[in-house]
Amino acid sequence: MFKKVLFFALLSLSSSALALDIMVDPGHGGVDSGTTHLGVKEKELVLKVAGYLNTLLKEDPQFKTNFTRTTDQHISLKSRVQKAEAARADLFISLHANSNPDSRVRGTELYFQNSLPPDEESLIIADQENRSEAGYEGLGLIATTSPSKKSDISAIIGDLNRQYRAKSSLKMTQFLSDGWKQSKILSKASIKQAPFYVVSKTTMPSVLIEVGFLTHPEEAKKLTGPKYQQEIAQKIYKALTHYKEMMDKIGDQALQ
Ligand SMILES: [Zn+2]
Repeated sequence: MFKKVLFFALLSLSSSALALDIMVDPGHGGVDSGTTHLGVKEKELVLKVAGYLNTLLKEDPQFKTNFTRTTDQHISLKSRVQKAEAARADLFISLHANSNPDSRVRGTELYFQNSLPPDEESLIIADQENRSEAGYEGLGLIATTSPSKKSDISAIIGDLNRQYRAKSSLKMTQFLSDGWKQSKILSKASIKQAPFYVVSKTTMPSVLIEVGFLTHPEEAKKLTGPKYQQEIAQKIYKALTHYKEMMDKIGDQALQ
């Protein structure tokens, strides 16, 4: 009897150890509404998507999910990163909505953590998102010195970690992109890179999803509907299952 109990205790321990720890980060909140257009607030939209995502994830023992916020509260970018680090999350997913002075611009943008120089347009978007944070002084704060110039072991490990994070992050955006392509109702998604504070500062693989443009009248209308929000959550969930499957099957080998 004792052996049987012990066996199940070990089994549940090992299965919980294998669960993928995810930190979901609905952007903005509280005094920071994010992008607001025609009465639609980014902070509310991303919280709804996060809620639908939670409904899917909490039913699946493969995942252990935490949220940087579940209510309309203001949380600093620094504290979002700290929450992910404290939870020792395996993956960080930040949810945002976009705006553009040109109301014709539409679509989902998937940003992954990378050390390559980002294109100019992405720099501007990242700067807008980061600027919503009080005390943020521009992109200069994010720039890091290249560790490859150092010759010690910690620098080499740092480089390997950076490569692992970049490759894993890119894989996740590719799974998301595949899901978006398969969807009949979601807008076109493109993979981009930009030095967003949260994806740059987290030590685990991380992606930032700009779900769509609130400044595009048609897209904004769709984004506010529960059907579209649920579809976004569904595709994120699907991408997470592919990501988990990849990690289980081939682990780090797949990323070499
Ligand atoms: Zn945002």
